[in-house]
Amino acid sequence: MSDCIFCKIASGEIPAKIVFEDDVFVCFHDLEPQAPVHVLIVPKFHVKSLDDLSKQDEQKMGHIMVSIKKIAELLELKEGYRAVINTGEDGGQTVEHLHIHLMGKRKMNWPAG
Ligand code: 5GP
Ligand code: ZN
Repeated sequence: MSDCIFCKIASGEIPAKIVFEDDVFVCFHDLEPQAPVHVLIVPKFHVKSLDDLSKQDEQKMGHIMVSIKKIAELLELKEGYRAVINTGEDGGQTVEHLHIHLMGKRKMNWPAG
């Protein structure tokens, strides 16, 4: 989508501190980190949220899910990490392009706020 900030990062139009990318997703550091390590894992195809995924996205989303441990390894999140997908207004989603927050290097609280 032409006015989507994460599409622009995925295409290289807007710079970001990229950790890893492949054909399906890009992973980059969050602009306002909420933990010592806080990256976003973003599909390279535009989809607004979990609510907007369809059957045809299963393979790519499955690939992203099984890639999280590889990103965690790259970032040396040896003690564990948290992966979060905020969805919609009550879920606290502010950027309307599906993304997974991956946070680590501190003890996470539960329940989440
Ligand atoms: P949400 O609130 O939608 O779950 O998460 C959006 C995240 O994107 C926030 O943590 C915010 O800091 C991050 N963010 C927003 N705009 C940019 C940007 O232009 N670059 C980067 N690297 N992160 C961004
Ligand atoms: Zn987008």
